[in-house]
Amino acid sequence: MTILLPVPDDWQAQARAARISTAGLLTHLGLTPADFPAGVIADPDFPVMVPPHFLAQIRPRDPADPLLLQVLALGQEARPQPGRLTDPLEEADYRAAPGLLRKYRSRALLIASGACAIHCRYCFRRHSDYGATMLTRAREAEALVAIAADPAIEEVILSGGDPLSLPDARLDALVTAIAAIPHIATLRLHSRTLVAIPSRVTEALLQLIASTRLSVVIVLHSNHAHELSADVAAAMARLRAAGATLLNQSVLLAGINDDAATIAAHCRRLFACGVLPYYMHLTDPVAGAAHYDVDEPRARAIDAELRAMLAGYLVPRFVREVPGRDSKTPLAAL
Ligand code: SF4
Repeated sequence: MTILLPVPDDWQAQARAARISTAGLLTHLGLTPADFPAGVIADPDFPVMVPPHFLAQIRPRDPADPLLLQVLALGQEARPQPGRLTDPLEEADYRAAPGLLRKYRSRALLIASGACAIHCRYCFRRHSDYGATMLTRAREAEALVAIAADPAIEEVILSGGDPLSLPDARLDALVTAIAAIPHIATLRLHSRTLVAIPSRVTEALLQLIASTRLSVVIVLHSNHAHELSADVAAAMARLRAAGATLLNQSVLLAGINDDAATIAAHCRRLFACGVLPYYMHLTDPVAGAAHYDVDEPRARAIDAELRAMLAGYLVPRFVREVPGRDSKTPLAAL
């Protein structure tokens, strides 16, 4: 088994250590490509990125580990997948300014960063040309002017990539500029970094959350209870203590969380961490990720089973994002 050198629990050191070869990942876990019936591939356009903290939650010698299967490029990705798209949500049509998406009337979304601490093979933005679409310092003024000019916008969403890939000083400057727009009441951050590198919850981030006049909502992106380590739980407690409202959204992924018992365990663990389950997204038809799809009848059956198992507030809303609609579409309406 490959022994990876210990990495300090400093978020930037963890982020720097995330890039790992497919061979290095497998040998570290005591696995070989022969353990995967479809084989594994190396993808230079979307290379493997797994921070040491997340890697430590993966069970060695288990090719079916639900965390491993989110980050390992399997052979299915390289096979023809008819009907799959590089921009499945047609986001190019919603670009209101460089780095700014307007899909819904009261919310504006900033592609705050093109970087991610972890690369998820099911990602609907995995083919994004972030160099052209993300917010940069040079593009920031134009995006903020567009937000300031539209009083219908109540909430600014920081997305990416992952907005918590930004250094604290940059994030602070961006949030300060958003808070200076009088009609913005809420700041929402979507992040998977928090499960990949919980030490990203720095004192400076907590100070930022506690001191802004904006209501802060953090939407964690977690798909399985095994991602919610004791360190993640502690990070969530600190975010809550700073005043953030914590929600979670998941993606329904074949072979990873597509059964009611697994999702129920995840929802209970989220709640124990102070995080409310919010959305369960059905996959988008992104090129290379068809093997993660769960069909709608199966999703409906899981949803019904969950409702019988859990209190209503623990059941995430099963939805699909359909380009052109003015909100997410509930599974029941598909
Ligand atoms: S962290 Fe989010 S944006 Fe980044 S690869 Fe994963 S799913 Fe995609």
